[in-house]
Amino acid sequence: MKQVRIQCLNCGKLVIVSTLQPCFYCGRLYKDEEIDQLLQTNKAEPVEVEKLLAAQGPSVAPVLEVSPMPWKKLILVMAALFFLFFCMICLWLIIRFI
Ligand SMILES: [Zn+2]
Repeated sequence: MKQVRIQCLNCGKLVIVSTLQPCFYCGRLYKDEEIDQLLQTNKAEPVEVEKLLAAQGPSVAPVLEVSPMPWKKLILVMAALFFLFFCMICLWLIIRFI
């Protein structure tokens, strides 16, 4: 599937279209030959799928921000265990010296 960035021939808006993807604003569908013709006359700019995925980067970022959470949880669990251990030692000392 070929995706191109063009100025819509119908409504004049800057849109990304393909043979399966009509104009976002007016719904004009471009045929393969039309897209080829636009590309040949430099009226269309080819769009790479990788670039589109990279443009969606911010939506991936929050997922990455969530990843430090298990570390925090682990530290909390460790702290809780350490506190329990500390309490046990205190109790043992109290029982021992009374
Ligand atoms: Zn349009």
